[in-house]
Amino acid sequence: MPKKRTPNETWYKNIRPIIWKRDNGRCVNCGMKVSLKNSHIDHIVSGLKSDNKFRNLRTLCVRCHVLRLDINHRGMIQSAIRKNLIPADWRNFVWEE
Ligand SMILES: [Zn+2]
Repeated sequence: MPKKRTPNETWYKNIRPIIWKRDNGRCVNCGMKVSLKNSHIDHIVSGLKSDNKFRNLRTLCVRCHVLRLDINHRGMIQSAIRKNLIPADWRNFVWEE
């Protein structure tokens, strides 16, 4: 987690729409169109070195977000399988640039 968290209000009202528009409302990994509401704004560098600078943020669809090879996302896997967002053999679809 970054040392300084951006207040949630700023994140939802300002940062999310800017990143989503910059990425043309599409998942930058698979190219699928995502609505602002359903978009996942991902930290490219996560963990201690993470920050909320625009160059560290990108738009992902929920599937690509969950399947990103990032230990910080492992908690999402089980709930994503339950919701049918990813297949049970999700390990075959994990990606990282
Ligand atoms: Zn995607």
